[in-house]
Parts: sequence; C-alpha cells; structure tokens
Amino acid sequence: MTAVPEEIKPTGRKRLLLLMTPATYRAGAYFDAAQHLDTEVIRGLDLPKALAEEWGVQLALDFADIETSVATLKAAHARQPFDAIVPVDDSATILAARANAALGLPWNPPEAAEAARDKGVMRRLMAAAGVPSPVFRRFSLTTDPHEIARQVTYPCVVKPLRLSGSRGVIRANSPDELVAAVARLERILLDDGNARETTDILVEDFIPGVEVALDGLLREDGLHVLAIFDKPDPLDGPFFEETIYTTPSRLPVKTQAAIADCAGRAAAAIGLRDGPIHAELRINEHGPWMVEIAGRSIGGLCSTILEFGAGMCLEELLLRHALRMELPSLESIGEGAGVMMIPIPKGGVLRAVHGVEEAEAVPNITGIEISIRPHTVVTPLPEGSSYLGFIFARAENPAAAEEALRAAHGKLRFDIAPLLRMAR
Ligand code: ADP
Repeated sequence: MTAVPEEIKPTGRKRLLLLMTPATYRAGAYFDAAQHLDTEVIRGLDLPKALAEEWGVQLALDFADIETSVATLKAAHARQPFDAIVPVDDSATILAARANAALGLPWNPPEAAEAARDKGVMRRLMAAAGVPSPVFRRFSLTTDPHEIARQVTYPCVVKPLRLSGSRGVIRANSPDELVAAVARLERILLDDGNARETTDILVEDFIPGVEVALDGLLREDGLHVLAIFDKPDPLDGPFFEETIYTTPSRLPVKTQAAIADCAGRAAAAIGLRDGPIHAELRINEHGPWMVEIAGRSIGGLCSTILEFGAGMCLEELLLRHALRMELPSLESIGEGAGVMMIPIPKGGVLRAVHGVEEAEAVPNITGIEISIRPHTVVTPLPEGSSYLGFIFARAENPAAAEEALRAAHGKLRFDIAPLLRMAR
C-alpha cells in the first residue's frame, strides 16, 4: 500500500493533537481513547528535531520555546486543521493554552495556565479572591536565610515556585530547620540550572489536617467533580511523599461539597475555565484549604482506577470534552478503588524489585506496574521526584482497597544498591 501524504488524507474524522513528553506514562491511555472515538491523533512530542526525524515523529516541539512551538503548530493547523489540542503532561499545559488561543480553539486562557504553573502567582491570585489558602511570603534566594527565619511563623513549608511532585517542598518547625530547608531547596534549584539572583522561593504557613485530591472538569456551566480521592497516609512532613489515593472519598457529603466549592473558587480565582483540573486540599476544623490547583488531570497512571458511565476511562472523557463530543455522566462510578504510588525507600541504584507476583496475588489487587527500570539511579524526596511504580486495587469499598494496597506493598522488596560517589 502506498502511503497517503498527510495533506490529502481523507477528512471527516476529528483531528486531535496530543502534546506529550517521550517519558509520559499516559500516551497509551490517550491513544486507546482516541482510537475508540475514531479520532486521528497527531503526536506533538517535546523532542529535539533530529531525534524526532529518526523516530518518525510527525511534530517535534520544544515545550520550553513557546513562541517557536506555537508558530510550528499554527503552520501545521493551516495545512490541515486540528479540532483540539490536548496536553498530556503538566509541562505541556502552557503551550497547549497558548496554541489553543492562537488557533481559536476553546481552552484555558494562557495567563491562567501560567498562573497554575507558578505557585507564587497562584497564591497571590487565590489570596486576592479570598480563597482559603495559607499565609505565604516570597523571598529571593539571595535573601539571608537567617533573615527569612526571622520573618516567618512556625511550623511552615518551604517550596520552589515551579517544581512538581512535591520536589523541594520541606516543612520547618523552627528557625534552625528553616535555615537548613532553605539551603537544601537552594541546592536543588541551583543543581537544576537556576541562577540564585533570579530565583524566588515561597515560605507558607503549614496547614494541619487531612489531605484530599479532587479531579474535575471545567465546562461552560462551571466545575463538575469527577472524583475526590482521600489520602489516608498522613502528610505531615518534613517531606510530602504521595502514597495512597482511594476513591470515593470517605469524608461526609457536606465536607465533600465544601471541597468542591473551594476548588471551584480557586479555579475561578486563577482564571481556569475549560478542561481538567487537579486540586490538592487540606481539611481541618476551619474547613477546606487550597494547597494547589493545576489545569490538568491526575498524573502518572493514577487515572486508570477511575471509571465513568458505560466503563469509560478518564482519558476518553477528557478527549470527548476537548473535541466537544457527547459526554456520559461525569461522576465516577465504582464502589472502591485505590492506587499507591510506590515511594522510593532510599537513594541508590535500583537493582530489582522482588515479590511482584506475590503482591499481585493479594485479593482486590488489579495490577502492579514497576515503572523504573533496573539499573536506574533512584533519588527519594525532596531531591527526587518520581515513584518506583504503581499498585492498583478495586474492592467493595475504599477501606478494603486501601487495605489491599498496604498488603501488596508489604510483599514488595526493593533491592537498591548504594551509589558510589566519585572522589572529587
Ligand atoms: P507540588 O506541586 O510539587 O506537588 P505542592 O505545593 O502541591 O507542590 O506541595 C506538595 C505537598 O506538600 C502537598 O500535597 C501537601 O501535602 C504539602 N504542602 C504543601 N504546602 C503545604 C502547606 N502550606 N501546608 C501543609 N502542607 C503543605
């Protein structure tokens, strides 16, 4: 069969551009969903051009070079229009917003996407709109940490503006701990290539309480809650490693309504209005508090535990929204489901993970995915950012799903060899 040049491919099917990084966990889920919707998928990969050609990638983009990437997408759209541009990864949300705006496709305004990626701007906008959120102060990395220690109250949380996955987020209970936390965050930021003179950090009051995550979909008529996840492991610091998520939430219905209201107000405060949101909130005797909101859906492979009407997955639902196709009921179904992001127990070289089969045999466990390959260097928080993988469970209720996750995790043994440091 002769290949049909892209320009004269028969139209009629919707054309979807997925913006993704080569390392994304979620390509498969989005491709399957697009295929189910009989939609043509174009991959816009964050990849150097030469590598993209070698791999036969249609569209190579540099997510950090927004102007050039938008120009490339405009030219591609002029040749054959896209019906929607959807970011698969967090790192593509700003480009997606800018490109959708340039092409006149519905999405979040670029300023909102920017605000959702910058914790400093997010905090400022939420505070201005009266959304319950912690008192925060912004400091330059050039400020003497002892001076910062004098200006803040305790306990507090030191964090970077633009990292994710809790990287660099450190609790401090005293001035001494604060000085140490700032030094540790500074090392992370400088190692990432940031210049001390142009880099700011945040110090926020620590909000006690339980934590939940909310996934929602913003449509013309406001926020639709897709799922609220409880996080049953306490997140009290000094580092904030995500582990278990279970859904549906076991919190009282009234509390869940307050959580949804708070997340909706936070989205409005920063200008998010179209597409998925993923929000983190803490709840204590004063009600819900916003920790963070992002203009994307839940990350990693966590979405696989969600199911909507007629067994639809989250990715299909999000594509249907972006392509303005008919949607099923927007509330997730299922009696109990959970996912555990497998934490990195210590730094070193991951040699092997043992006990996977035994863990898979635990009742109510539906799958285990070890996503880090053997012989990879693994780094725990706060310097590192990824997980060793995921454990999935489905059960008659969320408590049973949680129990299964803990039992399965208990069967896993991680063989991590210490990293030999080269003498300088
Ligand atoms: P990231 O975007 O890297 O995930 P967050 O700002 O969401 O960074 O912080 C990561 C985690 O740290 C949160 O999920 C929460 O558990 C904890 N955390 C962050 N800020 C606070 C705070 N002010 N009070 C209490 N916990 C916090």
